[in-house]
Amino acid sequence: MFDVQKIRQQFPILQREVNGKPLIYFDNAATSQKPQAVIDAIVKYYSHYNANIHRGVHALSQEATDLFEQAREKTRAFFNIPQAKQVIFTSGNTHSINAVASGAHVFVSKGDEVIVSAVEHHSNIVPWQMLCEKVGAVLKVIPVLDDGTLDMKTYSNLLSNKTAFVVVNHISNALGVTNPVKEIIKQAHEFNALVLVDGAQSCGHMTVDVQALDADFYTMAGHKMCGPTGIGVLYGKEDLLNQLPPYQGGGEMIDQVTFEHTTYAGLPHKFEAGTPNIAGGIALGAAIDYLNEIGMDNIATYENELLEYGTAQLKTIPGVTILGEVTDKAAVISFVVDKLHPYDIGTIVDKLGVAVRTGHHCAQPVMDRFQIPGTIRASFAFYNTKEEIDIMVQALQRAVNMLA
Ligand SMILES: *Cc1c(COP(=O)(O)O)cnc(C)c1O
Repeated sequence: MFDVQKIRQQFPILQREVNGKPLIYFDNAATSQKPQAVIDAIVKYYSHYNANIHRGVHALSQEATDLFEQAREKTRAFFNIPQAKQVIFTSGNTHSINAVASGAHVFVSKGDEVIVSAVEHHSNIVPWQMLCEKVGAVLKVIPVLDDGTLDMKTYSNLLSNKTAFVVVNHISNALGVTNPVKEIIKQAHEFNALVLVDGAQSCGHMTVDVQALDADFYTMAGHKMCGPTGIGVLYGKEDLLNQLPPYQGGGEMIDQVTFEHTTYAGLPHKFEAGTPNIAGGIALGAAIDYLNEIGMDNIATYENELLEYGTAQLKTIPGVTILGEVTDKAAVISFVVDKLHPYDIGTIVDKLGVAVRTGHHCAQPVMDRFQIPGTIRASFAFYNTKEEIDIMVQALQRAVNMLA
């Protein structure tokens, strides 16, 4: 059964102290911590299998290739992706989005419209602005309501035969609100528009089934699901990935090269130019094994308990306002305290060993919408505890007393 104390033993970093206090890590939406199994996978790769993949006939190269391709298969199964060749390994979520946006001129023409939501991370806004500039398309925005949910009525009205692409995150990193992506996709498809879902915040916290969602593209960040940095995933429907031009040219991604003409390799290699992050891919496979062992349903249930507890406890501090307090959300609490600056509060609670994120969370338009410079964000993971939440609340109360 789910035993948080046993789980905590598997994360070496959770044993350390910060400023003489036990570390309380509540910045999981920025990056998750890594269990020993993932750290071991990296060390083992470099000490036993290190070789370049897909090229050599020698034993090491074959062993490394097998491990890397096994990780691709684990990733396929984890997200219910139909075929392993639709799992494109990238350097991260940002790279995954850019790989699609940079080639999306084959799907988006002059005068077409691209719809983004008002709660996107900058990495799911800027690449689409660049695309619109390149092809002469128009960017439209789904507004966010006061409660942090998307204005679905306006979304329905924005959709038209001009809509070529809709991009939205599954869970907002700034508010923690889960967006109704299945419904967004269904409505977009009625107008033959394609949908890319940014899954950076969902991937390690809930079961994601790309086929049940009917997403055309789905992107993930390995480092936010207990894997290492420098590895991400792009999923796409097969025919769309075949139509999408390659993002980078180089080795690995070609079929035949002459100075007159080059033909590209098939999927997934067409999108994996150059030597990939081999250790990172293998370690992502180890992270997926680890999450599967605990069980995504157990993780989601436990994190929801932390969310409910944390929300109730935070509200005992006078002056706290939580943004995006809705039923369908991840264990991310974004809040402000009266007129106190989030940065000042973050600095004081850090002295007490508590790591929270403060600022605009790479989502400036969300902060502008709520007319605040930023928030304090406590984001939980399955290795956090209610006792840690109690300590955070005490630290926050102390910070508020000092600053008020
Ligand atoms: C973290 C995050 C990103 C960016 O991912 P990188 O790992 O920095 O490439 C994009 N969107 C959301 C919702 C995120 O949380």
